[in-house]
Amino acid sequence: MTTLNETHDPHLRSWVETANVAGCDFPIQNLPFAVFRRQGSDEAYRCGVAIGDQVVDLAALAQRSLFSGLAQAALQAAAQDKLNALMALGEPAWAALRLALSRALRTGAPAQASLVECLVPASDVVFDVPARIGDYTDFYTSVHHATNVGKLFRPDNPLLPNYKWVPIGYHGRASSIGVSGQTFTRPKGQIKAPDAEVPVLAASKRVDIELELGIFIGSGNASGDAIDITQAEQHVFGICLLNDWSARDIQAWEYQPLGPFLAKNFATTISPWVVTMEALAPYRVPFVRPSDDPQPLPYLDTAANRQEGAFDIQLQVGLQTPRMRQAGEADASICRTSYSHAYWTIAQLVAHHTVNGCNLQPGDLFGSGTLSGPTPDQAGALIELTTGGKHPLTLPNGERRVFLEDGDAVVLRGWCEKPGAARIGFGACWGTVLPAKP
Ligand code: MN
Repeated sequence: MTTLNETHDPHLRSWVETANVAGCDFPIQNLPFAVFRRQGSDEAYRCGVAIGDQVVDLAALAQRSLFSGLAQAALQAAAQDKLNALMALGEPAWAALRLALSRALRTGAPAQASLVECLVPASDVVFDVPARIGDYTDFYTSVHHATNVGKLFRPDNPLLPNYKWVPIGYHGRASSIGVSGQTFTRPKGQIKAPDAEVPVLAASKRVDIELELGIFIGSGNASGDAIDITQAEQHVFGICLLNDWSARDIQAWEYQPLGPFLAKNFATTISPWVVTMEALAPYRVPFVRPSDDPQPLPYLDTAANRQEGAFDIQLQVGLQTPRMRQAGEADASICRTSYSHAYWTIAQLVAHHTVNGCNLQPGDLFGSGTLSGPTPDQAGALIELTTGGKHPLTLPNGERRVFLEDGDAVVLRGWCEKPGAARIGFGACWGTVLPAKP
């Protein structure tokens, strides 16, 4: 577990003045990583760190030899077009780079004159998917989501008996993971209406969102070697926002017995910024398993995990219809919840994923699963918010929605705040549904 250190000091201020503005997602205590280049350029993508409304160009910084030792080695790895090399270096290198950047970006830092030349305004950049994602695994860590959706798909048997024992997951599709701003055409697939005798091939009428977090693996493990839960978090680089778009009508027909397939693999959108586990340390909270539920098996249980294995990350979903966009209206909030409601922690997911000897690799991505909280307004998918499409949402302009319509854009946002710590944010994760191909 990462302990608090000088980089978390809430009183730190940066010479990048926009980083000191209240409510800013990227103060000096955050320092998340992305992959970027200048908009409209054919420059090579390289890694960057957010500070206020600027991006620190780590490739440019690496050439200046401002840092030394492990921090400089981490910087060299970050000069590449994906985060994988930095991820592979492991936690000591990530921590050394964070500390060096924190010191260099503080008010009064002698490095300012040199570092200021490595800043690119965030408004001038485009982002790419931050890592080469070899494998993507989507979990199912909200017992509230599992119960709500289970009721809709299996009214007599909502929560299957393995749920409270096994961190349920499935292997997803990495090729269709895109970065914020992703658009995708409405998927087609086999759909069988409840009263129909046979399925038809048609465009989905029930395109949905799933509010999730993406968990990026840093250093991996050799095939055959399990990662013990006590070491699990050292293998995690950081967290981003993740929207696991889902076609519910395709899903309902195809999902048994092997789980989701074409209902999920057409698109997944993640935020460009990856917030490190170290930056999230002030927001650790206890992992609490209700006393009348089964307690985790020993390989999924440690005192440290119980004390501080969960994270209180605030989450919000916004919906913007084409009409709202044309009228210049911002997205309307349709969900507010927190990651702290999850039934399994990140350490438990890593330990479980590898207990059979499965090898994780730098840049592998886990989806947390839809992060619905205990109350109806905390549901992270439209299928729950509208009770299976039966109760439409009414938006501020009077429009109604059950599932997404063509041109609808969805934005996920995340942030952490509490007294005595700096507020940090994840930025935004946007995606838009386009009409089905004719
Ligand atoms: Mn999902």
